[in-house]
Amino acid sequence: MAPTAIPGFSGTVIGPHEADYDAARAIWNAMHDRRPALIARPQSAKDVAAAIRYARAEGLLIAVRGGGHSMPGHSVCDDGIVIDLRALNQVRVYLRAQTAIVGGGTLLGEVDRATQQHGLVLPAGVVSHTGAGGLTLGGGVGRLMRRFGLTIDSLQSAEVVTADGEILRASADEHAELFWALRGGGGNFGIVTEFEFALHELSELLILATFHPLADARQVIERGRREMADPAARDELLWTSFLRRAHDVPWMTPEFVGRPGIMSLVEWSGDPEEGLAVLSRIRDDLQPAASDLAVVPFLFMQTITDDLFAHGLRTYIKAGFADDLPDGLIDVLLERAASVRSPISQVELLALGGAIARVDSGATAFPFRQARWLINIPATWRDAADDEHEIAWARATYAAVKPYLSEGNYVNFMGDDEDDTAAGAYGRTIERLARIKAVYDPDNVFQLNQNIKPTASTP
Ligand SMILES: Cc1cc2nc3c(=O)[nH]c(=O)nc-3n(C[C@H](O)[C@H](O)[C@H](O)COP(=O)(O)OP(=O)(O)OC[C@H]3O[C@@H](n4cnc5c(N)ncnc54)[C@H](O)[C@@H]3O)c2cc1C
Repeated sequence: MAPTAIPGFSGTVIGPHEADYDAARAIWNAMHDRRPALIARPQSAKDVAAAIRYARAEGLLIAVRGGGHSMPGHSVCDDGIVIDLRALNQVRVYLRAQTAIVGGGTLLGEVDRATQQHGLVLPAGVVSHTGAGGLTLGGGVGRLMRRFGLTIDSLQSAEVVTADGEILRASADEHAELFWALRGGGGNFGIVTEFEFALHELSELLILATFHPLADARQVIERGRREMADPAARDELLWTSFLRRAHDVPWMTPEFVGRPGIMSLVEWSGDPEEGLAVLSRIRDDLQPAASDLAVVPFLFMQTITDDLFAHGLRTYIKAGFADDLPDGLIDVLLERAASVRSPISQVELLALGGAIARVDSGATAFPFRQARWLINIPATWRDAADDEHEIAWARATYAAVKPYLSEGNYVNFMGDDEDDTAAGAYGRTIERLARIKAVYDPDNVFQLNQNIKPTASTP
């Protein structure tokens, strides 16, 4: 049976009877096995507008798909339409301006490959098959965030198709409120068909990767806490620790693989010679059970966990911000890490600060600029039989950590249940966001996201 024709649409439409329907509806998190009425793959902003108009005329729920990494499964729906932006993946680099125009469905790896040809980077996430679209709209944390800020801090403008099919440009000068909202407000305000980003110069990193068994994990977290709390800590220095079972990386001693412990990645994004003294001192003091200290190409680092976090895994996530890592929190983290079962689940401690904290908290819709740590608890596993156990582990870990968290939630590390609410995600920006939503999407057409309900009145 031929799929439904969408008036004015020149892209591809995939219906339930097409051979590639099952592949097209699958998203990264295999927990979400949903069957849309159709999947539309636009070739242009005009196609996106046509698909939105068609969906509204037919009363179809709209899911927007970029890289398909939404952990709560917002990029696929039952019965409605998936507007799948993957064909909008062109990256154009402008050397003189040091900017790039990035299509709304581009993957991070595609951005990295295009920009690294010129020794330039967009500060974004750390797994190359993640979509630049969803990641940017939620904020964008990654290995260059202390040096160059969140991904939204490099966003200069965006082409947006609104709920009524209008194609707008949002920037500091045009639709400035919309531009503010796009930088942290998630996919609530329209479909972004093009992002314009400022780029930065960088092509290699100095990295120290370490593993310590759980018995030694306390001193590692304390050291990370001290390094990152130092007012003189350089933006070039980034500390990330993962409480997890050691996985099989080339530098790991085989006897440790599968043992619970702490893997850390201490990265230096400045001059490698200068960083060598800093990272060598940390390694000498910590005396890891296994480690690696090396200068690596940025592109290499950006794909290093692609296979570990491949498509088709099952995930349940909880996360929050913290101002510090006090001793009581470390106790709790070590206790929870001892009970991690899946070889892929982990508690991530991501140091923030640096360039993120120097942006005014009202400048974008991401208000949690002063948080020092992002604590991310992604339970991840392969077998549906483990669903109950892994979800329970993540929930119990989050419950234990929660008393130590500060306000807010990171939109991109949220699930869809319990106390994960839009108000929590957007903090004190929620009222302004709700008013902007009322202007650009008064009927809440874009509702499959950490949803902001439109509110026209000024409180
Ligand atoms: C393996 C993995 C690694 C990750 N690593 C990081 C990381 O390093 N840093 C980080 O900050 N986050 C990270 N994330 C979280 C990630 O940022 C979010 O899952 C994000 O939503 C993914 O965007 P996407 O385009 O791939 O997802 P999708 O599932 O396609 O979309 C997610 C949401 O964004 C909306 N959306 C996507 N593109 C557009 C667009 N062009 N216009 C309007 N709305 C759009 C969708 O409607 C949906 O609500 C990771 C997630 C996974 C699964």
